[in-house]
Amino acid sequence: MRIGTGYDVHRLVEGRKLVLGGVTIPFEKGLLGHSDADVLVHALCDALLGAAGLGDIGLHFPDTDPQFKDIYSIKLLERTCQMLRDREFAVVNADTTVFAEAPKLSPYRKEMVTTIARALGLNPGRVNVKATTTEGLGMFGKGEGMGAMAVVLIEESQSNPR
Ligand code: MG
Repeated sequence: MRIGTGYDVHRLVEGRKLVLGGVTIPFEKGLLGHSDADVLVHALCDALLGAAGLGDIGLHFPDTDPQFKDIYSIKLLERTCQMLRDREFAVVNADTTVFAEAPKLSPYRKEMVTTIARALGLNPGRVNVKATTTEGLGMFGKGEGMGAMAVVLIEESQSNPR
């Protein structure tokens, strides 16, 4: 078994759509980034890459590369998963937390879980999405941005231990 963690933050701005966990969520602002800026999926990609010892999302999907401009980050998650499969790693489970003062994310939780689980090729019961405010404190509380953290467990194939 191997464990990985991921953390990401993106700025909230007007004129962008808000995509979290692969789901477009109606809100007055969206996250700014080279891709769709899906902070939750980015944290998850970093956790997977971390567990596999494969560096980080910026290494594999640089924000200077035009092929990733406005890309749906679930596609980056799928590519990350493929990298792990190529190395005979299997994902066991993923747990995530989004930091956001608004909007309320609970109505979208189930769709985020199923979207992420599909990209990971997992039963939705192995994926968890949580959300918290920061009680009005700091960059998340003031609505300047959103953050996310993720923890994943992966297992090595018995036939190919490292
Ligand atoms: Mg990011």
